[in-house]
Amino acid sequence: MQAQTSDTNRHTDSTNSGVALAPLVSKLPRVGTTIFTVMSALASETGAVNLGQGFPDFDCDPALLDAVNQAMRSGLNQYPPMAGILPLRQAIASKVRALYGRDYDPVHEITVTAGGTQAILTAVLCCVHPGEEVIVIEPAYDSYVPAIELAGAIPVFVQMEVGASGYAVPWDKVAAAVTPKTRLIMVNSPHNPTSSVFNAQDIARLSEIVRGTQILILSDEVYEHMVYDGQPHESICRYPELAERAFVVSSFGKTYHVTGWKIGYVAAPAMLSAEFRRVHQFNVFTVNTPMQHGLTTYMQHPEPYLQLSAFYARKRNLFREGLAGTRFKLLPSQGTYFQCVDYSAISDKPEAEFCHWLTTEIGVAAIPISAFYDQPRESGIVRFCFAKKDQTLQTALERLSQL
Ligand code: GLN
Repeated sequence: MQAQTSDTNRHTDSTNSGVALAPLVSKLPRVGTTIFTVMSALASETGAVNLGQGFPDFDCDPALLDAVNQAMRSGLNQYPPMAGILPLRQAIASKVRALYGRDYDPVHEITVTAGGTQAILTAVLCCVHPGEEVIVIEPAYDSYVPAIELAGAIPVFVQMEVGASGYAVPWDKVAAAVTPKTRLIMVNSPHNPTSSVFNAQDIARLSEIVRGTQILILSDEVYEHMVYDGQPHESICRYPELAERAFVVSSFGKTYHVTGWKIGYVAAPAMLSAEFRRVHQFNVFTVNTPMQHGLTTYMQHPEPYLQLSAFYARKRNLFREGLAGTRFKLLPSQGTYFQCVDYSAISDKPEAEFCHWLTTEIGVAAIPISAFYDQPRESGIVRFCFAKKDQTLQTALERLSQL
């Protein structure tokens, strides 16, 4: 509503000074509440098993809680350094070196963030200017496009294609989407929501596309420790040609079953990290101290992240075996803690409507894949999260078996 000046209107729309506030012009006019929040609320209202929003329903290792508790009780409760405490950055650098063979300097090239989403927003804000283009591969995690829009930049979409071996990136279409304005390509492997993972061929195609250009890469690798069936995680960190132009994002929440702690990190070459930190210091400034100390202690043992793939592969198999007897068609789940299913043999409802129905009538919440697209798109596919206690998965499977 426009500012009101007439006396008659003042009492309804005016501030104390008598000048009505104009409505805000939203920077994100197309954004509502995220689908994850919506489905979790519906699941909790209806008592449905929540296989929607991606988070574990079991607790983390008590040793991690003890390490954080110990840090708090020993007085480690004031501001840490802006980029994160050095021992944690060193532990991250050692892990990345051991797993992917790249040496990041913990002083200048690793920054601790308030989770993956903040890392992604900050990375986009620090390197993309108004009017520049960012290539987004759909379906895409729902924070990517708002981050690009907040930077005043333009998302350019390329859709993954679904074949017999699941979703894959059509790299020729990515190459065709590149223009002189392309500043950044956002990639995500293991991929949310499709559970696909990059192979060496994907990396080769991406490398060809960016070679000799100024295009940067934002690689969302928050599910890096959940890759199944003996495949390696093709981290961008393994490939110097890509790593030298990349922000690589990971998340302790996913790795250690503590999504509510909101803590992750970005690894990037010094020049990119310096710019990242300029924005980071006025965005969150830094990340809570005791968690950083607790994680540093806990990271001294690599077993928890080394065993994570086996831990989740077992749950994936349990869930897939349970669904095998239903009319859901299972798509491959090569990584992440998600399983996508095609429900077209069960219903012809649009995905969001199907998820609503499944939650309220069958008692299992899921996430529509359509929520990961910019333009309305129906594929008859929904995503389940299997990061749940076996008992939770069994209850969900009993309900889904009616279908
Ligand atoms: N990453 C989680 C998912 O994909 C959701 C996180 C959130 O709710 N913002 O389900």
